[in-house]
Amino acid sequence: MAEKQNIPYKIYLEENEMPKYWYNVRADMKNKPAPLLNPQTHKPMTFEELQPVFCDELIRQELNDTDAYIEIPEEIRNFYKMYRPSPLVRAYCLEEKLQTPAKIYYKFEGNNTSGSHKLNSAIAQAYYAKKEGLKGVTTETGAGQWGTALSMACSYFGLDCQVYMVKVSYEQKPFRREVMRTYGASVTPSPSTTTEVGRKILEAHPGTSGSLGCAISEAVEAATSQEGYRYVLGSVLNQVLLHQTVIGLETKAALDKYGIVPDVIIGCAGGGSNLGGLISPFMGEKLRGEKDYKFIAVEPASCPSLTRGKFAYDYCDTGMVCPLAKMYTLGSGFIPSANHAGGLRYHGMSPVLSQLYHDGLMEAVAVEQTSVFEAAEQFARVEGILPAPESSHAIKVAIDEALKCKETGEEKTIVFGLTGTGYFDMYAYEKFHDGKMTDYVPTDEELQKGFDGLPKFEGNEF
Ligand SMILES: *Cc1c(COP(=O)(O)O)cnc(C)c1O
Repeated sequence: MAEKQNIPYKIYLEENEMPKYWYNVRADMKNKPAPLLNPQTHKPMTFEELQPVFCDELIRQELNDTDAYIEIPEEIRNFYKMYRPSPLVRAYCLEEKLQTPAKIYYKFEGNNTSGSHKLNSAIAQAYYAKKEGLKGVTTETGAGQWGTALSMACSYFGLDCQVYMVKVSYEQKPFRREVMRTYGASVTPSPSTTTEVGRKILEAHPGTSGSLGCAISEAVEAATSQEGYRYVLGSVLNQVLLHQTVIGLETKAALDKYGIVPDVIIGCAGGGSNLGGLISPFMGEKLRGEKDYKFIAVEPASCPSLTRGKFAYDYCDTGMVCPLAKMYTLGSGFIPSANHAGGLRYHGMSPVLSQLYHDGLMEAVAVEQTSVFEAAEQFARVEGILPAPESSHAIKVAIDEALKCKETGEEKTIVFGLTGTGYFDMYAYEKFHDGKMTDYVPTDEELQKGFDGLPKFEGNEF
């Protein structure tokens, strides 16, 4: 009880406590993430080779493995102030409900119109595109959170925003589409006939409902074939993880303010940007030998890139137009089962997180979707927030960890990332409530098909 009086239920930072620098965890990694490779020559991509696709300043951030702190430009900090700091919440009601001695905190990133953490990187990417004098940007979106965040960021800076949206989501999530159009973005269902790669994919797979990998290929082609356009990406890349470190820096500042030291830090992992951003400052301490924490990445059992994937160079997209990245991957041809409702469906994982996981600095677990929705509902009923299915993967494992503490009597402090809200995921919730949601775990044979498509060249052993 004493503690409840000292520690508020929500911890906000003062303006002068908010981060002015992003933290680049690569600077403290002994084993750096492997460089992006040119898919033709298999040599590391140079600045010049990346220039037709990405903005200059973002390429510098992508390739920067040495500077630990990178200043956040004032214009971006001013935008952050519209919705940051995000609250760090003590889940008193969930603790009570679980009857656990564990202390549970969550960092809530759903307090902005886009409904997720993706705005943290969208605004940075739009800012650098504008500063470079570009006309606009192209991108892909799956469930629609990234496209929504980017359309908000582009309208703020007066940039054109072209979004290739995975066809199945375009049809199932018309409201997301309309939010994007409200902010002035044009939205094209992918695969489409507007690009060469889209036409090729449609020819090979008529009637396909699309995938993130296809949409990426189309967006890259659209960027490189229009004057004054570049491609931007909402996850996976080093630069995105860097921007997302505002999540972890704020979390750390808030915990430090009250002298709280977490034992376990948990996040859901799709492409790895929110988790990477949340854990970076804590991982830095671990890498420098100052403190130790347990980090857990949570992924869907139906798209298990860390727990069952290969650590290898792979294509980032289905059309194989992007550079090769060394990461935990299921193969760029992998498409999760149609019954999978909970997002986090990318075939690969951030090269930074992949390297950290490979070096044993982070753990990973895969969970099945019905258990994720059970956790989501349990959380919503006591904490009030309606969580996104993606975020609920982290909730599920935070609850599991808290229940372990109940058995052992340990008073661990658990922090997890609550990345967003689930208002646009009501079809998935409906399926769950009607008892129609099933779990699907791919067999080894099914995964092998994805691995068979990994690029084969000297040095790419897996
Ligand atoms: C995109 C998204 C994720 C997964 O992306 P990461 O890059 O792994 O963070 C998780 N939660 C929400 C709400 C998202 O929109």
